[in-house]
Amino acid sequence: MLSADFLNLGKDVAMVNANADLFHLDIMDGVFVPNISYGFPVVEAIAKEATKPLDVHLMIVQPEKYVARFAGAGASMISFHAEAADDPSAVLRQIRSLGAKAGLAFNPDYPLEKVRPYLGECDFVLVMSVFAGFGGQKFIESSYERVQTIRKWIDAEGLQCTIEVDGGVSPANAAELASAGAEILVAGSAVFKAGNPAEVISHMKSL
Ligand code: ZN
Repeated sequence: MLSADFLNLGKDVAMVNANADLFHLDIMDGVFVPNISYGFPVVEAIAKEATKPLDVHLMIVQPEKYVARFAGAGASMISFHAEAADDPSAVLRQIRSLGAKAGLAFNPDYPLEKVRPYLGECDFVLVMSVFAGFGGQKFIESSYERVQTIRKWIDAEGLQCTIEVDGGVSPANAAELASAGAEILVAGSAVFKAGNPAEVISHMKSL
């Protein structure tokens, strides 16, 4: 929703309700990332109209301080950055205890070996295919390989962990991401900056 038209948010919420599977909300604090996005009033406003689940992506320091409030605001999926948590296991447990799905997010340069020990404790991982902080960035090609590696680990251990990819996702890379093992694709600019967002979503889902 970072790429939505905030002066016509209701219209974009209705479009997502009608065409997409979930709302992906990027929360930036100006500390973990240099940018600031939006906060509780906007999330709560979207929650009021949303008929699809809210997937909140926290790009903030000290995520443990805020997960309860985002769960209370209506988030059914909450991810936070491995780089921003002292004890990722504790935050994952905290999110699950609130009744939400717990996700671990990490930037394109974060070593995958450091993610591996947490795969069994995550409901999903959020593989960043651009660096967290801004919408509209170009997709990083090495992301396919990172998705494949995680897919292999999840399958080898028979874990129930979904792979979500976020950053520069578009019709140009959606099919290859899906075949690499991604199950949830987050598209911002590719959808909202298109002349016909509904058509882009249905096209990407058909790939
Ligand atoms: Zn995101």
